Amino acid sequence: MDELERVDPELFNLIKQEETYQIESVRLIPSENYVSRAVLQATGSILANKYSEGYPGRRYYEGQQFIDQIETIVIERAKRLFGAEHVNVQPYSGTPANLAVYTALLKPGDGLMGLALPHGGHLSHGWNVSLSGNFWRPIHYTVDRETHRIDYEQVRRLAKSERPRMIITGATAYPRQFDFKIFGEIAREVGAYLLADISHIAGLIVAGVHPDPVPYADVVMTTTHKTLRGPRGAMILCRKEIAPQIDKAVFPGIQGGPHNHTTAAIGVALKEASSPEFKNYGCQVVRNAKALADELLARGFQLVSGGTDNHLIVIDLTNKQVIGRKAAQALDRAGIVCNYNTIPYDPRKPFSPSGIRLGTPAVTSRGMKEQEMRQIGAWIDKVIARIDDETVIARIAGEVREFSRQFPAPGLIQ
Ligand SMILES: *Cc1c(COP(=O)(O)O)cnc(C)c1O
Repeated sequence: MDELERVDPELFNLIKQEETYQIESVRLIPSENYVSRAVLQATGSILANKYSEGYPGRRYYEGQQFIDQIETIVIERAKRLFGAEHVNVQPYSGTPANLAVYTALLKPGDGLMGLALPHGGHLSHGWNVSLSGNFWRPIHYTVDRETHRIDYEQVRRLAKSERPRMIITGATAYPRQFDFKIFGEIAREVGAYLLADISHIAGLIVAGVHPDPVPYADVVMTTTHKTLRGPRGAMILCRKEIAPQIDKAVFPGIQGGPHNHTTAAIGVALKEASSPEFKNYGCQVVRNAKALADELLARGFQLVSGGTDNHLIVIDLTNKQVIGRKAAQALDRAGIVCNYNTIPYDPRKPFSPSGIRLGTPAVTSRGMKEQEMRQIGAWIDKVIARIDDETVIARIAGEVREFSRQFPAPGLIQ
């Protein structure tokens, strides 16, 4: 990055500081990861210079002889990896991709049914501060008060009484697996489309450690930058019959020209995700989450739903007498990065909720295993127990820095 340093030392220095932070901290935000150097190189390539509105073979600009080949390769890789009939690789990110799906298949005011945000759902699933909750009629199902799991009978009852035009399955803070088959049955019973938003779990599905929605859903949306370990972007997978509507909704419905540098980087990530090593990665992500959950349970932490089946954990800190935001901030000072999060039926407000959310995708990309998860669990316990003791937190921060340096992160130079 010598040229960046020369032209813009101010931004160069901040990027370098962020890089050091990513090297020296234990990153437990479940939606974050480390991409490979190959993905970074495609993202930073000259493809950023290019305009190519339209789709391969049907562009509104000349000069697409290489871009068409790139996008076609990426589409074919995605179709093969997920077993999908049709794939659109142009969405800029997950939220616009979801908006494109709704635009394609719903009329304004149609019922859109998703998991409620405080129960682990995503803003773009019809929450009221999002366009999705204003342009369409939001309907929300919740998790069970005792088990913290999706209550499929409640979903069925609600679908029958509210008659949504689309049901969404998928979440950002749900530590258990989804039964896509039941969701598919419910959607068919009420004549709704089923959208599976697998943004968080796409990499686990590819690795075979989470059930696959493709046989049951009309549309599958995923971001490419979470467990899939690609650049920031998204893809929409769908059945052939609705492909024209989906494509039209992405462009020209919601977006302009595709980000070709991102498209190419998605292709690199898909190639990497097709490897046997990636299967091992996905398995280890889940094993690590279980190991971290076990360590936390053994130390008296209460976990939403009692544990995890996937890559993430939500801790209910109520019994520790610490609120989520304070815990997340203290952990960050100790070099352990996570986010504060609501818990189901949280008595506290969303900007100061009772929980924190942790995930293992990024630390697993650095080669950490169960033994390291136990160490991380012990640090979390120590920080929460000594939350006001800056001496203890500073000592842990030093240990975390030294520990993190032993696990080179893909894509970063150490
Ligand atoms: C992350 C996420 C999104 C949105 O992705 P952005 O790229 O941040 O817009 C949508 N749905 C789910 C379930 C997600 O986890």
